[in-house]
Amino acid sequence: MEPANRPEPHAEPSLHARSPYELRVDHGRHVSDADVRAALSHGEMGFLHSFTTGSMVDGPGVRVVAWTAGCMWRCAYCHNPDTWTMTNGIPVTVPQALTELRKYSAGLKAMAGGFTLSGGEPLMQARFVARLLTAVKGIGVHTALDTNGYYGERLTDEELDHVDLVLLDLKAWDPERHKRITGMDVAPTHAFARRLAARRRPIWVRFVLVPGLSDDPADIERIAAFAAELGVVQRVDVLPFHQMGQFKWKRLGLTYTLEDTPTPSQELVERTLDIFRGAGLKAV
Ligand code: SF4
Repeated sequence: MEPANRPEPHAEPSLHARSPYELRVDHGRHVSDADVRAALSHGEMGFLHSFTTGSMVDGPGVRVVAWTAGCMWRCAYCHNPDTWTMTNGIPVTVPQALTELRKYSAGLKAMAGGFTLSGGEPLMQARFVARLLTAVKGIGVHTALDTNGYYGERLTDEELDHVDLVLLDLKAWDPERHKRITGMDVAPTHAFARRLAARRRPIWVRFVLVPGLSDDPADIERIAAFAAELGVVQRVDVLPFHQMGQFKWKRLGLTYTLEDTPTPSQELVERTLDIFRGAGLKAV
């Protein structure tokens, strides 16, 4: 079913961004609440912050990445707080997104790459995600979903089978620490990870290393042990905290608490990698 009174696609700005660090706000503001609800319920239209091409870090090979708008978490180190609000994104239909992707599909296949949906939190728009990833699989392109896993139950088993790889953000083990960092409970993410493991779906874990916030060795050891036990984690990406998103917090009038937090030292990064490697995982 079509969303009622679906608006014409927005001509400006371009769906393509030089990087996800571009600040984007209010591009879906003209979409009515009814159309937003219809889009969420049917998934024929989604809200995208942008497309970027040529990523080498969001899954295997060279990737085209679609960054979705909308996230219910409030990570203290989020570098894209403009993606928290769904209607900051550009309304895009599944066929429009697929048309964009088709331009690159031959190259992506030749370079053993693919398409990654990131965010924001893509599963805020789970129906759109399911439709789009199914369509992308239909043109033979590798699919990856970068998610915090909180709404993993919104995808059916069959839909999960159209996801070749899940990039799963594990932010902290201890529930209180997790809540301090993200504002949300960690249990749904763990449940989703276990479900992926039970279905033998491959995972790359993403762990953001923030001095003084997520660098407790005992906590990282628990994450590493959990990831190793899953038996489907192909690698762990340790992502050093940076300040590249700080300007967005300020421009959006948000309170940023990590102004004085340094990037992690090389020694801390190496120690963290060693913890994951010590659990038998490939960590980079
Ligand atoms: S889950 Fe991702 S997009 Fe959402 S607040 Fe955290 S870092 Fe930002």
